[in-house]
Formats: sequence, structure tokens, C-alpha cells
Amino acid sequence: MENGLSRRTFLGACAGTGASVLLGGCSSSLFTSRPSLDLVILHGVVIDGTGSPEQRLDVGIRNGAIVAVGDLTAATAIRTIDATGLKVVPGFIDIHSHTDLDLLKNPFAPSKVRQGVTTEVTGQDGDSVAPIGGAGEEEMLRSFRENYGFECPYRTMEGFFSLLAHKGTAQNMASLVGLGTLRAVAVGFDDRPATPEELHAMRRAALQAIDEGCMGGSTGLEYTPGSFASETELAGLMGALPLEHRLYATHMRNEDNRLLDAIREAIGIAKASGARLQVSHLKAQNKINWPKQEVALALLNDAIASGIDVHADRYPYVAFNTGLTNLFPLWARDGGTERFLDRLKDPALTSRLRAEVQTKVDGLGSWDAVLLSSVKLEANKKYQGKTIQQIMHDEGVDPYEFVVTLQLSERGEVGMVGFGMDEPGTEMVLAWKNTMIASDAGPHAPGDGSWPHPRSYGTFPRAIAHYQRTRKVTTLPDMIRKMTSLPAGKLGLKNRGVITPGAAADIVMFDYDAIADRATFTDPHQFPAGIPFVLVNGVPVVENGGQTTATPGMILRA
Ligand SMILES: [Zn+2]
Repeated sequence: MENGLSRRTFLGACAGTGASVLLGGCSSSLFTSRPSLDLVILHGVVIDGTGSPEQRLDVGIRNGAIVAVGDLTAATAIRTIDATGLKVVPGFIDIHSHTDLDLLKNPFAPSKVRQGVTTEVTGQDGDSVAPIGGAGEEEMLRSFRENYGFECPYRTMEGFFSLLAHKGTAQNMASLVGLGTLRAVAVGFDDRPATPEELHAMRRAALQAIDEGCMGGSTGLEYTPGSFASETELAGLMGALPLEHRLYATHMRNEDNRLLDAIREAIGIAKASGARLQVSHLKAQNKINWPKQEVALALLNDAIASGIDVHADRYPYVAFNTGLTNLFPLWARDGGTERFLDRLKDPALTSRLRAEVQTKVDGLGSWDAVLLSSVKLEANKKYQGKTIQQIMHDEGVDPYEFVVTLQLSERGEVGMVGFGMDEPGTEMVLAWKNTMIASDAGPHAPGDGSWPHPRSYGTFPRAIAHYQRTRKVTTLPDMIRKMTSLPAGKLGLKNRGVITPGAAADIVMFDYDAIADRATFTDPHQFPAGIPFVLVNGVPVVENGGQTTATPGMILRA
């Protein structure tokens, strides 16, 4: 599905000087009327994505690909972008993204595009948009209909990719297959081991998803039904995938009190299956666990030393974002949404549930560390952006009862932000050599009625502006590497994530002094500053700081 360079297009005037590198031969030609390049970026400073130091270079683009890098001041081009004062870097690859079905509402994904994300890798946390089937099929189809206003036209990843390609997207899209999704289809939502027949069905479905273009598998072991899968089951499933697509991205079984056990399990699955490990949003949650961050990194370094391919991803914030259901114990969520809601209503379970939720909140510190993000019902929108502590104070409600009422009215679909991490641990993770920057977020747009975590708008500019420029956790070329060639390599994307002749022309231009995230927890719908141009496959999707209506994105398949 990638753009190839057509030989015909080389029949233009020869571009560049001796200093430039031009891909392919350049035939002298009579057809001098057509400029040799579609677009040339002049006078910028290139950081090529590999971690190499910056260089003053121009970049020539034709047919969606970078064809020349060097001194191109003499080249002819249909269009010129003057990048004086700007860094010119590869487009950001968001390797842990939740951009998928929302594109059916808004294919421009403004919060992501405006921060320079040119490729989204979705299907994370064990959850992909397909396959659809089994016990959860009806609920999934109903939710699709309610959210998007039409009947879900697909059941497979191939169907989803086709739908997106048909609609058009601003960014390139790639996906993993969710092993939780496969379990939902084959086993359902019960807490029990899969039978041999079910295991076989999951293996077949995983292989089909890879065949349809998925780049690996993901798990969400704090979510249902993914959490009901054992280490052995997961290793067996991953081991069944073709070696080159055996990328195992895991939202681990625990990120607080049992963080280190969870890291060991993730390493164990990679070791047993031969998979390349990617620990999703690596972090140590809750104050009592902050010292474990260093130990977790040491365990990952040991795994690397033993020959396992290990990376992590992380968003540059000290608060996480998840479903409010996660405050509730797993046993309460066994069996799916309906049974969860029934248990909330069961007076016989109230005191036990209340105590377990309170323990979870105590771990975070207090109800002040729990901020409500997205809700669906208009009547509940007033709570978005407020902490439970604030709501308790304003309305005089009991926090547990309030949370239960909210869950029941929203049918379990409430988003929360939890302030659970520390700055030193966050910096330690971001600085680690194998950490990739990722948003863990879906796309949003101002006025869409949501209350997103600010990472949806600010992840990449914040990593550069705050953690690199101000806090100096690493060098600028290395920070760019964490957003570009590192994720490209992990995914096996051969022609993205670098600025070099032959690579796809996914490019971000930013002003290093001016770049800044502006979205906050209390004012999340704010685009970043200092990113005037973003190109996807050679086409500007951000121009002079505003988004265009172009949809040059491609589906990237394994
Ligand atoms: Zn996750």
C-alpha cells in the first residue's frame, strides 16, 4: 500500500547540486517544462530521526516520497516551503494510539495532526475494532450504531481498513490486533481458561488479522476480558504469529503494587513466544510504588541483555487516563458490562465494593486525584474536568455513591484521569534509551463535547518543549528519534521515521524556541504552538499553523 516512485517522474529537469543526494538516476531530458520536484523545503535544519545531529539541509519531495536531501536551492519545484528558523523532522509515529473509530466522525483528527502525528498505531490495550463476533457482537453493534449513526458495515480488520481507506484520513493508519478482542469473540467475558478449541479459534483469528495487515498483537491485562487470559495462553497466541509480526504490546496486568511481577510476566511472554516486547505506557503508579520505577527499568535492561527485544512507550504527563470502571475490582467486572452494573446495584455487595474502591483511591492519595474526563449524557457533562473531591464539596455527595450512580447512568462508560505518577519517575522513563513517545490517546476537536486528557493535544510538543528543552532528559535529536525511527523500527516500517531519499514524505516542521503544548487538565482543547507545517505523504495537512482539508493518509499493512 506504500507509494512507489514512478520512473516516469524522473523525466524532469535535474535537481540539485553536487551536494545533494538524489534518489535514482536523473536523466537529462527534453521535458524541462515540468518542475523536478512537487515540493521543496528550503533553508530548514534537518534532524533526520536516527539520532544523528542536526544539519542545514533542504528536502525535495515528489510523488509522496523524499527524493532529494541536500542543497536544493537550484531545484525547480511546483511548491516551495521556506523553513527558515524551523527544524525539519520525520512525522511522529504514535505507537500507542487510540485513534480508530472516531475517524468516522472526524477524519481530520485535529488534536493529533496539529501536534505532528503522521502515523497512528491503534488496536492497543488488547482491544482492536475487529474482529467482531461472539458473545459481545450485539453490544458492539449497538454501541457502533449509537455512536456513529449507521450500521457497522464490517466484521474484520480488512473491512475496517477498507472503510477508512474509502472515507479518507489525514494520517496514516496502522493497527495491532487486540488479544482481548479475540478472547471476547472466542470465549466471551467469563473468567475462565480457554478450552483447546477456543485457543485454536483465537490462533486462527490472530493469524487472519495479521494476514489482513495488523502489525502485531496487544493485550490489556487490567481490562476485561483480556485479564482472564493466563501467561501461558498469551505466550501461545503470540508464538503462533509469523516471526516478523510478533510484536507484543502490553498494557500489563498491574502498574502499581504488583508492577514488578507484571514486568516479569511481560518479559516471560516475550521470552516464551519469541515476541518483540513493547511495554505500554510504562509507569509506576501511586506514591508507595514510585521507587519501583528504577527497578522496573533494571528488569527491562536485564531482559535486553539476555537477548530479548524490549521497548516501552510513555506519554509525557504524570496523570493517566482510563475508565472509571478500573477503580472497581476485577471480580466485579467478570461477565461483562451488564453483570458489572447488576453487581453495583446489589446491596449484598455494597460494603465489599465500597472498601475495595476506597483502597484503590487511597493508593492514589485521595478522591482529589480522580478527575472525571469523558461522559456521554448531557446531564453529566457538568462533571467533566472536576475531581470527585470537588464534586463532593460542591454537591455534598458521598463519593462512592456518586461514582456508582454515574456508572449506572452512563452504563459503565465513564473516563477518568488519575494523578498517580511522579516527575522523577516520568523523567527516568522518558530518558531511557528504548522509550518511545506515544499519546495513548484518541483524536479530539474543539467543541466535540469531550473532556480529554491533554495528551490528546499535547504529547509530542510537550515531550520536546518540557522534557527535552526545559528538563533536558535527553538531546533533541534523541527525543526526535524516540518519536520517529525508534517506533518505525519496532513496527518494521521500512520507509518511515527518517528523512532520507526513498522514505515517505511524512514531515513535521517546528520552531524549537516556540514549540509548546497548551492543553491542560482544566482546559484540554488547546492546540500546541510552534508547529506551522505537517506533511503526510508529501501533502500538507497543517499549513501556516492551520489544518488543511487534505486526507493523504494511507493504511499501512504488515
Ligand atoms: Zn493502556
